[in-house]
Amino acid sequence: MTQPTNLIPLADRPGYHPEDYQENAPETVWENPLDRDQPLHLYVGVTPFLGDAASPRPRYTGERRTGIRTYVIKAHSTRALPSEFDMAIQQYDCLEPECAPRRRYCRDHTHRRVIVGGEAPHLINRGLQHRPVLHPSLDADSAARNQALADARRAQQQATLAAETALIAQHQATLVEQKMNAQLNDNKPQQGAPKGNK
Ligand SMILES: [Zn+2]
Repeated sequence: MTQPTNLIPLADRPGYHPEDYQENAPETVWENPLDRDQPLHLYVGVTPFLGDAASPRPRYTGERRTGIRTYVIKAHSTRALPSEFDMAIQQYDCLEPECAPRRRYCRDHTHRRVIVGGEAPHLINRGLQHRPVLHPSLDADSAARNQALADARRAQQQATLAAETALIAQHQATLVEQKMNAQLNDNKPQQGAPKGNK
């Protein structure tokens, strides 16, 4: 998947293998003016494991175990991060009088601000960017995956149908057998009865 070249690349994420490359969320561009790399340890939560009590619990590693995601912005570089982490990276108070009742929650980037805390108060916020994603119909990988899913589903339906047909045939055979047995049993007393009456 090719990306437009004017976008700021995403921050390094050690040990990350993308699962959903179609993620499309607003990104905030952060500049690291320092002479050292800036690690960011951001809380993303742990997904609770819901399933059969008997099934083995998968061995979680990294952020799925700890709920902490690590990003790194190298010294003197500019990188993008999902905007949902803005409040964790930096907390600030707006200095404009109109925001006085809720200084901490001002989202207006034109307002004067003072940074009062967060994981990386020295980073410089360079604003938002949006990373365009391909429509699924234009994406060969996605199309191939959907096709494979559809094929698998059809194969499973056919297998289920075949199994049901076999089951019905077996049931009908059992019925016929029962009817024949019943007829045999009906015939036996009839044959025997006249003898008994004599
Ligand atoms: Zn404000």
